[in-house]
Amino acid sequence: MSSPQHPVCVTLVGAGPGDPELLTLKAAKAIGEASVILVDDLVHPDTLKLAKPGARIVPVGKRGGCQSTPQAFIEKLMVQEALAGENVVRLKGGDPLLFGRAGEEMAYLQSQGISVKVVNGVTAGLVAANSLGLSLTHRYFSHGTVFVTGHSPSSQKEIPAVDWEMLGRTAHSCRLTLVIYMGVNTALDLQNALIKSMPPDTPFAAVQNASLANQQSVTGPLHALHALIQSAAISSPAIIVVGDVLQGLADLCKESPFGQALQAVALPSA
Ligand code: SAH
Repeated sequence: MSSPQHPVCVTLVGAGPGDPELLTLKAAKAIGEASVILVDDLVHPDTLKLAKPGARIVPVGKRGGCQSTPQAFIEKLMVQEALAGENVVRLKGGDPLLFGRAGEEMAYLQSQGISVKVVNGVTAGLVAANSLGLSLTHRYFSHGTVFVTGHSPSSQKEIPAVDWEMLGRTAHSCRLTLVIYMGVNTALDLQNALIKSMPPDTPFAAVQNASLANQQSVTGPLHALHALIQSAAISSPAIIVVGDVLQGLADLCKESPFGQALQAVALPSA
């Protein structure tokens, strides 16, 4: 039970992109101490082996387009369990603070007088880049990285849509790498908008299930983004990386003694 020494608190914990070995020690400790764990559906089931016997595991998945748990239900459940004295962990894929609705959840919990702790996780975009052998900020090709959602907010009229043409222009002129989450279903729209403001042969890579045994990827020029994603049967969850860091990888590969082999893995010709 909570007491004045132990204020009512919920811990938002990042489970990483899939591979349970990418959990932080802090995340493992928080999971092991929890009595109630609300789990997103991208969290690997093995992660829950760290839960103590008797802990209540509540799946609250919310994949786009599928049957989903309403956000309001999740928030109310966290409050109810925390006020009942449970040690509540909200386990989210990747890092909880990136595209995880953590902002809304923290605001709601705090409005109910509940304090919030966050344990960072390894975000999928970084793991996808690693799987491609890529530094997102290789200084020869990129000044920085933009984490951006490809999810179309058409059902949420109060949230403005991403201006992809503008973003593409900025990314190209400022040498930024785009790391797009939730973009495979809108790949055609992204492609059509981005090629208006970026060179159509700017390289992209799409990585599905980064860090897992069934990881797969495809690369090619931006103008063929949609067709290549379709033909490689890449689906959610996937990350799309767009930028000259991928071309840089190809160029470096050509000059490297390991070039042929690396290029075959990372950049098959489109
Ligand atoms: N908070 C998470 C992102 C949640 S949004 C994070 O930091 O990673 C969900 C999106 O993340 C998916 O649609 C996909 O774009 C991406 N994603 C999550 N896990 C992934 C994985 N293993 N491989 C590729 N993309 C992944």
